[in-house]
Amino acid sequence: MRDVCIVGGGVAGLAASIFTARAGLDTLVVDGGESILARNASLENYPGFPNGIDARRYLQLSREQARNAGATFELGRVTSVEPIDSAIPSESRDAGETVGKTDLEDGFVLETEGGDPLEARRVIAASWSDSEYLVPLDVGRTQRGSKHYVAVDDAGRTAVDGVYAAGRIANEPHQTIVAAGHGAKVGLAVVHDSDANFYHDWVVPEGYFTGRGREVPPGCEEITEEERRERDERARKRMLEAFEEPLEERPTMHPSVERDED
Ligand SMILES: Cc1cc2nc3c(=O)[nH]c(=O)nc-3n(C[C@H](O)[C@H](O)[C@H](O)COP(=O)(O)OP(=O)(O)OC[C@H]3O[C@@H](n4cnc5c(N)ncnc54)[C@H](O)[C@@H]3O)c2cc1C
Repeated sequence: MRDVCIVGGGVAGLAASIFTARAGLDTLVVDGGESILARNASLENYPGFPNGIDARRYLQLSREQARNAGATFELGRVTSVEPIDSAIPSESRDAGETVGKTDLEDGFVLETEGGDPLEARRVIAASWSDSEYLVPLDVGRTQRGSKHYVAVDDAGRTAVDGVYAAGRIANEPHQTIVAAGHGAKVGLAVVHDSDANFYHDWVVPEGYFTGRGREVPPGCEEITEEERRERDERARKRMLEAFEEPLEERPTMHPSVERDED
């Protein structure tokens, strides 16, 4: 039983996983294919990259960051999510208890195409553009054209306790930074709804809290100047390696466009 299963390892799902995993929740990302961002030719409006970034490289680095944070990954398309059936065994019937009762606190079972069922206490749907697997739960979906959107509150909670939606599928604007920000926000809602002890996910210089006689709050970390320099060194080295060569992968073309392969 995982703490959280994130359906969709695209922009929103990866951002959510970084926050849930860093908060110590056992986080599994199940991805059934490719982020729609793989169709982009040059990602030029994501803050932090003044001349843009190859969208596939952005996705690779985000996946690596999620792994570094402790998230695990499985490939596979999720086909259904249902509450775990906490049915009271038939021998208890005489005691007058309800048989077949389910309790959302028991979590959810996710079926995947060709894989073993997965269990998680909480589920984040970050699976633009597929939400068919949520139909058994009746989370509340709206249809516009051929697409379905999942109804959520300000924090990404659906009408079903323990089920959340993030990114484009939650009707957020179709932009990468928005999907990433929403994923992060929904990840934080999951952290808040779980029993993780958490304040903010912040890394601060030594003394920032303790220098004022305060304990370092849960989720925060104080690091020494030496440690800060070491982390910066590691980060710069990794980014230099990552950006050294162009990626060979080309953008995925829209499926209805015929393409001459050269
Ligand atoms: C051609 C094109 C160009 C774009 N260019 C830009 C741009 O320049 N700037 C910008 O800001 N935005 C751009 N975007 C928009 C951006 O790609 C999206 O807004 C963003 O990717 C949405 O993030 P998401 O996480 O909601 O969905 P996605 O990133 O698509 O992630 C959804 C993930 O869920 C997986 N999934 C789906 N169903 C299932 C299932 N049943 N089980 C398991 N996994 C599942 C998918 O395989 C995918 O990996 C572009 C989009 C397109 C199509």
